[in-house]
Amino acid sequence: MEPKQTQDKYEKITELAKRRGFFWPSYEIYGGVAGFVTFGPLGTILKRRIEDKFRDFFIRRFGMQEIESSIITPGKVFEASGHLAHFKEPLVECLKCHKRFRADHLLQEQAKMSDTETEKLSLKELETTLKEKDIHCPECHSKNFDTPKQFLTMFTTTIGPYSEATGYGRPEAAQGIFVEFKRLYEYAREKMPFGVAQIGHALRNEISPRQGLIRLREFTIMDVEYFFDPEEPCPWIKQIENETIHIIPAELKKKNIKKPIKTTIKKAMEKGYVKTPWQAFFMAQAKLFLTQLGVPPDKQRFIEKLEWEKAHYSLQSFDQEIYLDRWGWTEVSGLAYRTDYDLSRHMESSGVDMRVYKEYEKPITKERTVIKPVMAKLGPAFKKDAAKIVQLLQKINPKDAETALEKQGFIMLESFKILPDHVKISKEKIEEKGKHFIPHVVEPSFGSDRLTYITLEYAYQQKEDRTVLKLPREIAPIQIGVFPLLNRDELLKKAQKIHKKLFDAGFSVEYDDSGSVGRRYARMDEIGTPLCITIDHQTLKDKTVTIRDRDTRKQVRTSTKRLISTLHDYFHNNKRFEELGTPVK
Ligand code: AMP
Repeated sequence: MEPKQTQDKYEKITELAKRRGFFWPSYEIYGGVAGFVTFGPLGTILKRRIEDKFRDFFIRRFGMQEIESSIITPGKVFEASGHLAHFKEPLVECLKCHKRFRADHLLQEQAKMSDTETEKLSLKELETTLKEKDIHCPECHSKNFDTPKQFLTMFTTTIGPYSEATGYGRPEAAQGIFVEFKRLYEYAREKMPFGVAQIGHALRNEISPRQGLIRLREFTIMDVEYFFDPEEPCPWIKQIENETIHIIPAELKKKNIKKPIKTTIKKAMEKGYVKTPWQAFFMAQAKLFLTQLGVPPDKQRFIEKLEWEKAHYSLQSFDQEIYLDRWGWTEVSGLAYRTDYDLSRHMESSGVDMRVYKEYEKPITKERTVIKPVMAKLGPAFKKDAAKIVQLLQKINPKDAETALEKQGFIMLESFKILPDHVKISKEKIEEKGKHFIPHVVEPSFGSDRLTYITLEYAYQQKEDRTVLKLPREIAPIQIGVFPLLNRDELLKKAQKIHKKLFDAGFSVEYDDSGSVGRRYARMDEIGTPLCITIDHQTLKDKTVTIRDRDTRKQVRTSTKRLISTLHDYFHNNKRFEELGTPVK
């Protein structure tokens, strides 16, 4: 990135975040380590509130379970899931300063190539493209790079004192859910569909993270795995089918069309853009979630991943992207249709049956093809081999045998040629009470650190005299500022009493009596506090206080008696600011 004369939004937010205790780079006293951040007092609350909103939006509302599994994971798990083979990024080293970078990111930053273009390139092609595009080292400007290599971006460790017991830091929380599937299914009373979520730290040894909260080496991931029977309809689709989304399906992306289609979920399904309604459902939820965090719908889009961009486990994937001031369209969540891939792999690798049984409402009658030996013909024709052929006949698929007889007039069983009169093929009716199957999974996956930055960027407003964070009221770290208007004993006491009353009622409140009221309002605006309550002389006379709105700076006066219930309504979005009291002229 070229140095800029004026601060862009990212720099302004980063500066504000450090100054007001939202977040800052970790280990600063030792010079800092890229890719790690410390959330300060306000940032910790903001991030937690975003995660709670996620819980409310995706987990509780749909009766899902939430679990917490460990971060260190034995190698066997990632061998089975395919991460050991696939969780890699192309690394390139500058031959002059020996700094290492993501080869694809250098091409994206300096040659403005899209990730669709760079993801397609093999290591060899990356090497030649770096040369063709005249790419330089961002640190020392040299154009001499080593040959790119694949770098495993999982952190590796040893479990216990035996070096052969390799462990990995999990790069996603999903595997912690898949490996516990059997117990979770039991807990769900063996009923499908059901969902399990996990919010916890994930580790990715990113090659050169240089985007603050957007790309960290340790971050909080919020994964939902929703298990379902692919033959069953999604019962919730009706609720959201008229929701509009902006979508770039694969067929447009392949033609390099960058303008998304604005359409409803229903139409996106009808057009076949989204392969399963379960995925479509979570796309609508993801859009609504981001809208509630303050990102307008026209700054959001879903972009399908092409064959070579998708993770190895996915049949269809969309990235939900939102527009950021510095980086343009940036992924905020990944929505993947993982099918039965993960459970099948763990079943194969552990030998534990991951299938579920589903009883049909009514037993169904099915026709089955059966093949039986005709011993009177088989015996004389094959003599001592006849018994072996009987065994082989039990192992083959009768339908395939029937087709072979129709098409070629015989069946080959090892070296034995079986003719039509050696066997009898017939149809049998059987009653099926239920079925065993491996559930399919759709997964919405968000990072709450990235969401925290995005929320801050969309809340950030520079006014002539101050900075205001227009955070949605329900996620603001401090909900209410409480101020005595003047530094007089009786006002201070009353203000402290009101502060305590609000605190006891569960609000996050901050008391402030230093400096002018204007300065105190400005401090609260800068950290996104939606309301400030001021205690003045009139409070002592008629037990009323003023409440000031962060966004309009308007004030209303209200009685202290009704204060708590009124504020509860306001923070639960059941009242507008104007309804909190009578306007102050
Ligand atoms: P992915 O599994 O790569 O689709 O990631 C899922 C979500 O996790 C992304 O949409 C981001 O919100 C978040 N995420 C992924 N990698 C990082 C990272 N290095 N730092 C912060 N957040 C990340």
